[in-house]
Amino acid sequence: MSLRAKLLLPLFLLGLLIAGYLYVVWIPRTLAADEVAHLRGVDKHLNSVAETLVPLLLGNQLDVLHGNLDALKEDNPEWLSIRLINPGNKPLYPLATAAKLQDAATTPDVHIVEKPIRYLGEPLGTLIIQVDLAPSLENTRKEIAELTYVLLGVMAALMLTIVATAELLVGRPVRQLASAATRLARMDFETPLPMAGTDEIGELVDSFSSMRDDLQDNRASLLREIAERREAEEALRQLNETLAQRVKNEVAANRDKDHLLIQQSRLAAMGEMVHNIAHQWRQPLNSLSLIISNILDDFRFKTLTEETLERDSANARRLIERMSTTIDDFRDFFRPDREKSSFDVATSIRDAVFIIEASLKSNHIELTLDAPPGLTASGFPGQYGQAVLNLLVNAKEAILEHRQSGGRIRVVLEQKDGFAVLGVEDNGGGIPANILQQLFDPYFTTKDQGTGIGLYMAKMIIERNMEGTISATNIEDGARFILSIPLERTA
Ligand code: ADP
Repeated sequence: MSLRAKLLLPLFLLGLLIAGYLYVVWIPRTLAADEVAHLRGVDKHLNSVAETLVPLLLGNQLDVLHGNLDALKEDNPEWLSIRLINPGNKPLYPLATAAKLQDAATTPDVHIVEKPIRYLGEPLGTLIIQVDLAPSLENTRKEIAELTYVLLGVMAALMLTIVATAELLVGRPVRQLASAATRLARMDFETPLPMAGTDEIGELVDSFSSMRDDLQDNRASLLREIAERREAEEALRQLNETLAQRVKNEVAANRDKDHLLIQQSRLAAMGEMVHNIAHQWRQPLNSLSLIISNILDDFRFKTLTEETLERDSANARRLIERMSTTIDDFRDFFRPDREKSSFDVATSIRDAVFIIEASLKSNHIELTLDAPPGLTASGFPGQYGQAVLNLLVNAKEAILEHRQSGGRIRVVLEQKDGFAVLGVEDNGGGIPANILQQLFDPYFTTKDQGTGIGLYMAKMIIERNMEGTISATNIEDGARFILSIPLERTA
């Protein structure tokens, strides 16, 4: 049911109620009251007529009485008939057979009024008149009809005004809003809205308009988000497509990096090796130089004999052999391990110590070695020795950097819970607390000429290749590194 119909229906019912009240209650009641008033007037009139008739009846002046009543009838045209009967019901007026009284039921406005005429209590007769109130009531009826029409007209006009106003102020804007809402549902944001007044409809229009703006904004941001998401999905898809390739590239790059690392580590080790060979050779070279000087002196002073030459050249050959052995030892130490093998941990440690020994000696650094033989581990002995050497080189460098003299390195090998535990301690000042965490990171160094791969390599060798652990702590005036590798299980 439309809003208009909903408004009209109660108004129509109200009109019906008012009209019903007018017709059923008010009009009959007004007419009845009017009728009673008229009848009272007639009654009063009859009283005075009856009084004038008394002397005429007493005097039996029937002709005068007839004349009076004829005149009375003429004066009151609404009196349909006048009859006068004596107490014995004999008609005195009119004398002719009385005209039949109209039936009051068929003509509701015709009433019969009887007025007894008495003199000193004695009945003289009864005056009976038939009065038609229709002409007198006609006016009232007309007035009532007019009033009713005016009232109904006013009601209808009122209804129309209310409906038209409601239509103008509510119906039309609400319909416009409804149509805008329908178009909004189809994402059409351009529908014109009704003018926003200051009433409740205005508030509705205002909130609808702000809702539409919000919706428009939300839709725009939603579309933006969808577009961004699509872009991201596309990027992800492309990334997925290229991921395998990128992983391959990354792995290759890592391999290259590892390669470079090993290369750098080798170079560092080679540097150390050359350095150490130089130290190892210093003494035999000095001796060789002395032998050559001896030969020259013998020659100059003519004391060179076959015997002295043979002795000197034998000494020189021995020295050269020793030097050659040294080179072999170094070469063996740096020869890469082909495969895993059982090895004596102490021997590997001694090999590492041998490599650096001369260099330590020339720098007046005292090394104490406590490495009992007999602890066998399984793995790569060369790599293990290399790790130990890295620790020894670091210890040496720390000592050289922090002290002029009294440098000491203590190397202790112990067996603990199935592990070969090696401690390398120095008195080179220790490791600053703030770098302890980064110590084993690749390329981490605090030295000007450092590579930062010594400890990283040691960690890789011990933890990755030999399932052991490596750690660093500070001791009283230096650092302690602990290498722990599992011992080979004896069956
Ligand atoms: P590099 O020796 O080339 O610097 P390393 O990985 O061998 O690379 O060592 C990393 C850093 O750890 C060193 O630069 C040094 O600061 C610190 N470090 C290593 N060993 C010791 C030590 N025994 N005493 C003090 N600091 C050390």
